[in-house]
Amino acid sequence: MKFSSESRGVIRLPFAKYGCSVLGAPLRYIPCTGPCRMLVIAGIHGEEPETTFLLSRALRAFETPFESVAFVLCANPDGMMLGTRGNANGVDLNRNFPTGNWSREPVYCRSVLEASRDTELLTGNLPGSEPETQALVSLIQELSPNLVLSMHAPMGCIDAPQQSELVRALCDTMGLLWRPDIGYPTPGSLGTWCKEQKSPECVTLELPRMSLEALFERYGSNFAALLQKVDSTF
Ligand SMILES: [Zn+2]
Repeated sequence: MKFSSESRGVIRLPFAKYGCSVLGAPLRYIPCTGPCRMLVIAGIHGEEPETTFLLSRALRAFETPFESVAFVLCANPDGMMLGTRGNANGVDLNRNFPTGNWSREPVYCRSVLEASRDTELLTGNLPGSEPETQALVSLIQELSPNLVLSMHAPMGCIDAPQQSELVRALCDTMGLLWRPDIGYPTPGSLGTWCKEQKSPECVTLELPRMSLEALFERYGSNFAALLQKVDSTF
């Protein structure tokens, strides 16, 4: 994979389709050329566009595909388009994975970090009911990565069950602290699903709350360098 210090306006890496959203948007990912060691997933919550933007900024520095890292820039394109956390059915995709503890009970999230849990979201009619979730599960099974890096905002931490090599590298690069537990139950989440499957190991990168401009300035080139390092050394 070739890296250029110059950031361009387009992503030059090839995309492939892995499914279709509720509203018919293509779900696309950037495959790697060899066996997949890590799959990076951004934009699973439609109200966290900074995850997609930061990943896009980093990927635009690369001219050729990665050997062992694949990318989903936006796992919830309908939510991103509608500006909603959930998909077009109002389902929080990160509570819709087919886990043993999946629950039909609605979940409540905060509109801002300091608010009470004031926004109701559904978890789907059945575990894994949503096309976006099904497609992501199939993609992970097909690629069989050792690691999934799931990008969220705005908690500003690295949430992972163990302090692995990737977790340490992320903490160093992003200047964020490791948290072994996010502090509340997450039935039906991607992380819980990965834990139940025993593999891949799921690491959640919670970006801190800041403007896109500040995020790019602070993390843009460091994050690209980290992806490059994972591709060549992990
Ligand atoms: Zn999120």
